[in-house]
Amino acid sequence: MNDIQEKLPRWDHVCLKDGMLAKIQKNVGAKMLPFQWRALNDEIPDIEKSHCIENFRIAAGESKGQYYGMVFQDSDLAKWLEAVAYQLALGGCSELREKAEEAIDLVVRAQMPDGYLNTYFQCKAPDKRWTNLRDCHELYCAGHMMEAAVAWYQATGERKLLDAMLRFARHIADHIGHGEGKIPGVPGHEEIELALCRMYDVTGEDFLLDLASYFVDERGQEPDYLVVEHPDHSNDHWSGIADLGRKYAQHQAPVREQEKLEGHAVRALYLVTGMADVAQRKKDAGLLNAARRLFLNAVDKRMYITGGVGSTCIGEAFTYDYDLPNDTAYAETCASIALIFAARALLQAERNGLYGDVMERALYNTCLAGMNVTQDAFFYVNPLSVLPEASEKDPTQKHVLPTRPGWFGCSCCPPNLARLLSSLGQYAYGTAGQEVRVHLYLDGTAELDTDNGPVRLTVHTEYPASGEIRLEIDGDCDLALRLPGWCHGSYDLSVNAHETSPAIEKGYLLLRGLRGKNQMTLTLPMMPRRVYAHSAVRADVGRVAIMRGPVVYCAESADNGANLHLLALPRSATLIQAWDENLFGGAWRIKAMGLKRNTDDADAPLYTETPPGLYPAQINWIPYYLWANRGEGEMEVWLREIVLGS
Ligand code: ZN
Repeated sequence: MNDIQEKLPRWDHVCLKDGMLAKIQKNVGAKMLPFQWRALNDEIPDIEKSHCIENFRIAAGESKGQYYGMVFQDSDLAKWLEAVAYQLALGGCSELREKAEEAIDLVVRAQMPDGYLNTYFQCKAPDKRWTNLRDCHELYCAGHMMEAAVAWYQATGERKLLDAMLRFARHIADHIGHGEGKIPGVPGHEEIELALCRMYDVTGEDFLLDLASYFVDERGQEPDYLVVEHPDHSNDHWSGIADLGRKYAQHQAPVREQEKLEGHAVRALYLVTGMADVAQRKKDAGLLNAARRLFLNAVDKRMYITGGVGSTCIGEAFTYDYDLPNDTAYAETCASIALIFAARALLQAERNGLYGDVMERALYNTCLAGMNVTQDAFFYVNPLSVLPEASEKDPTQKHVLPTRPGWFGCSCCPPNLARLLSSLGQYAYGTAGQEVRVHLYLDGTAELDTDNGPVRLTVHTEYPASGEIRLEIDGDCDLALRLPGWCHGSYDLSVNAHETSPAIEKGYLLLRGLRGKNQMTLTLPMMPRRVYAHSAVRADVGRVAIMRGPVVYCAESADNGANLHLLALPRSATLIQAWDENLFGGAWRIKAMGLKRNTDDADAPLYTETPPGLYPAQINWIPYYLWANRGEGEMEVWLREIVLGS
């Protein structure tokens, strides 16, 4: 624990001004959150019913219907409230404030006198509270509402939801833990650990951090409560869940002893985030090392090039090292969001560019691909290879959709995206002592507090469309600028018009002792480049992917015709980039002259001893985050590579 824990900026102190993510963030406030509010209220025809708000009304005794939805339906409202809070802090979506306040009042009315809150159990099984921690998400939903409460308090100064969630946290601490009359349980789905840490930060109540620490360290201890709780299958909420084993919910061993990140990817990465959060607040180097080890296993051996994680739909889970199938990938949007949370928490503990690289990879690829360009349709699963006919007819690819639906019966991802995109400033900047850190390059301004006083930073950039980043900094500080790993040390930097090559430490350019106003320009190389996977990734051997800056590219049949599997990119072919203003508001296309295998006639034999012919064909790529915006078609990230003349 050598590094000082990095302080995050206040949400209302980072303002995105222009550029792709600023537009997306504004659109979250202007369109996505109003749309989601209507979805939560079942006001949008022809999409899956949510019933989320109605469930709270029934729990509050204000409506007579039946509970409907997933056992974790409450969390959809919690994430929506959290996103609205961030938007309000930024000056956006003020028309939603009244609706959010009404929703908070409803949540508080639905809370039971003893502090308990979970509409599923209140409506459907009031005598079964805390009897199925493994399957039923009570602590998960509690965590999300706690995060919403913290965000709402920080954005508005209003304590109503925060006080309600403090009552709930006390109720939980009275019923779960070590001690007489308590159950020694842990959540089946982690999330409350990181939420308790956030609530501890704003209230200073020690019992919150102690409870988070208990949940982290009790996990996987013998006797394992999540096993003891289920002596047989009579209490299973999901059929087949027991078959997934203890790894599914990361309780196969105490977390400090776990070597690899296993099981359900969202759970696993929320756990890593909670571990890193507890470790920093408790100054626990051993726990931080364990969090780092699990995170590195995931990103070094189990992460898609797009920052997607979770290789199988069975258990939405990790499988084994280097198992990264492209067509049956799960890669849930929420899992990449969780990866960003974990990277951010570890980056707070240690200024190391690899965490920033992971945040950027997940953000610009899987997270942005998780929604369409109009931000009203969403992917839950983010494959790297799609054939619509396979999605329709192959049972192993049923989960892979070729186009985004508007909402899901299980709609965890859309509001999770809304809260991430509304709080990007938290990921872009931080301070430690007198050092200002820039992790992500976003056009806009940031007011940051250092030990030397306030620092104002203005960033002008169209990154990642452009590699030029102009920074104006006003204040006395040291400055650490992340040099992305994909630059391989190549960059240009001028400070007040003088070229300079400062020290580089763990992926950051360090400019020490800045005084007053300074202007600098950082230029990163944005040429398209070929990327290859480790040879143990069987799905990608003989294949090549194209990246430009942090953006992964894909080929779609909309630009290449059908049968993408017939395309091959010669290793010697020149990659050409061209700006296309008409591609959804402007994006770089990449093209190259490739080869395409002849398409056989339908009556040709299934097998033949005649080698196929190859003919020249242009290959066209667009950013992966834009895929599936032009109707249904094929998509491939990894194309075959051919070495001519060998
Ligand atoms: Zn999700």
